[in-house]
Parts: sequence; C-alpha cells; structure tokens
Amino acid sequence: MTRITGLPPYDPQNIFARILRGEIPCKRVHEDEFALAFHDINPQTPVHVLVIPKGAYVSHADFSAHASDAEVAGFWRAVGRVARDLGLESAGYRILSNMGEDGGQEVPHFHVHIFGGRRVGRMVP
Ligand code: C5P
Repeated sequence: MTRITGLPPYDPQNIFARILRGEIPCKRVHEDEFALAFHDINPQTPVHVLVIPKGAYVSHADFSAHASDAEVAGFWRAVGRVARDLGLESAGYRILSNMGEDGGQEVPHFHVHIFGGRRVGRMVP
C-alpha cells in the first residue's frame, strides 16, 4: 500500500511505543490483540483513559489510511468495550483524538482519549 505523504515517520522511541514494549509502566485497564488501554497520567476528568492500537501508527490519519480492516475493527471495538467496562455507557462519555500539530497531538502514536465521570463542556475549537 502506498503511504500517504505529509505524515512524519513513526518514531519507535515515542512514549506509547515504549509503554507497548513494557519499558515504561502504565495503569492498564484492557489489553487484547489490537489495543492497549490505560489511565492517562494527567487525568482531565474523573475517568480519563487512553486507548492505543498495538500497531505503529503516528496518528488517526496514518491509522485510518494504513491499518487493516481487522486492526480498525479490533481497535474501535476495544474503545467501546473499555468505555462499557468502565461503567460509562449509561451516563455517557466523550471520545477524542488529537491529530498533528493543529490538532494539538503531543504523543506521535495514534490514541483515543475516553473522558467520563462528569459532564464535560461543549466542544469549542
Ligand atoms: O492527545 P495528546 O497527544 O495531546 O495526549 C497525550 C496524552 O498522553 C496526554 O493526555 C498525557 O497526559 C498522556 N500521557 C500519559 N502517559 C505518559 C505520557 C503522556 O498518559 N507517560
């Protein structure tokens, strides 16, 4: 498959790659073939969990263009399962992914934030 241009190369030393390799600890809430979920180190809501794919994808742009259908399905099913297992479904929650510089992405390994445990504000850019 042709890689989309304009994306930075994947940095295997980024912090989430190191967490995936077990070099840095995390507070794991779920792990399967496609995804790892763990509590954010600097939570913005009472529940703030990150879900990351096992594969080496810089961002959502990279993941959505290059991951296999099985990886995409497995990843998003894990996001739903984690929210369900955390008991967030009835009250609701927010999922968010920052992409690139304008999106405010800090860690260059695709990840989805799950925010819950309180009502969050309306999204404003
Ligand atoms: O979406 P963005 O890249 O800005 O978010 C990165 C997130 O990763 C931050 O919420 C930060 O607190 C979290 N983080 C973490 N554990 C680390 C490093 C960063 O949970 N060791």
